[in-house]
Amino acid sequence: MTTGWVWHERYMWHDTRHAAGFVPAGGVVEPGEHAENPGTKRRFRNLVEVSGLLDHLVHIPPRMATEEEILRFHIPEYVERIKTLSSENGGDAGELTPFGPGSYEIALLAAGGCMSAVDAIIDGTVDNAYALVRPPGHHAEPDLGRGFCIFLNTGLAAMHAREVRGLERVAIVDWDVHHGNGAQKAFWRDPAVLTISLHQAGYYPPDSGHVEDMGEGEGEGFNINVPLPPGSGAGAYVAALERVVTPALRAHRPELILVASGLDANAMDPLAHMMVHSAAYKQMTRILMDVAEEVCEGRLVMCHEGGYSAGYVPFCGLAVVEELSGITTGVEDPFLEFFGGVEYQELQPHQNEVIALAEAIVTEALLPRTSKIQR
Ligand SMILES: [Zn+2]
Repeated sequence: MTTGWVWHERYMWHDTRHAAGFVPAGGVVEPGEHAENPGTKRRFRNLVEVSGLLDHLVHIPPRMATEEEILRFHIPEYVERIKTLSSENGGDAGELTPFGPGSYEIALLAAGGCMSAVDAIIDGTVDNAYALVRPPGHHAEPDLGRGFCIFLNTGLAAMHAREVRGLERVAIVDWDVHHGNGAQKAFWRDPAVLTISLHQAGYYPPDSGHVEDMGEGEGEGFNINVPLPPGSGAGAYVAALERVVTPALRAHRPELILVASGLDANAMDPLAHMMVHSAAYKQMTRILMDVAEEVCEGRLVMCHEGGYSAGYVPFCGLAVVEELSGITTGVEDPFLEFFGGVEYQELQPHQNEVIALAEAIVTEALLPRTSKIQR
């Protein structure tokens, strides 16, 4: 197994300004670190190096996405606004998305890095890949940056795979703890791109990611939301992967699976309320690899999204990349004994109810429509 790795130091130079978590500093809010700061991602990258794993990964150099590529989803006025603000002193891309000078180019490098990973897989340079890009992308809208996201990295990578590389079907599995509203919007009426989001119910964006939101027109049944109750842990996530994501992917038979890989469902995350530990992330990765092997020769690209625990994201991320590469470094997650042993890690009845609703969407809305797809 060869695993590609996308990283660039410039990703860390995207400046999200002073804040308390996600609230901008000012007035009674003392300036502190923004939740989406370089530290978490840098520490993830550093653990991959220190563990020795980095030596076994194939470095995929990221390129900047072109304006034309970004315009597949975003409107010209928005792209122009970001470019102008970035060339001056920075600003806010819309909702909760502060950025400093030069972030336009960095955001292009993030979107382009995900496309580089897609190209490396389709060219057969690597079997699967992890793109540790920044800023994240899955909340971005055509005309608006949202939730720390400027451009729709993962969704744009899917468009690249379809429009440039000629793939007929692509799937996006978003396991970031927040709803993947950007991809949902991009492919709402498009059955070629199956979008599945596992997220904390009723959280961010507000009023987004309901289980009954399943796409429209030709795309009906091809958008699947699994809004999990706060407090969901390994049991709920593994069950959702096995019972909803796997059958949906088997039905759709994508030629490439993209993962919007936010690691903020981790048990220590300051911006969410889930309990996933590194062993669960490893198992979730294995489930996706198995179904990818079955439907698309193992083609799996993970594009990094959120994840805000500086302490825990590195260990969850290492578990994912170890599994992708099939290499065990021997580094032990020092948090696992604790989080693996806390109560309520197993699937709870109220979590099971939500998963059962999403299962029904797959069976009743997706399966009848995919059975007609010509293969
Ligand atoms: Zn998130």
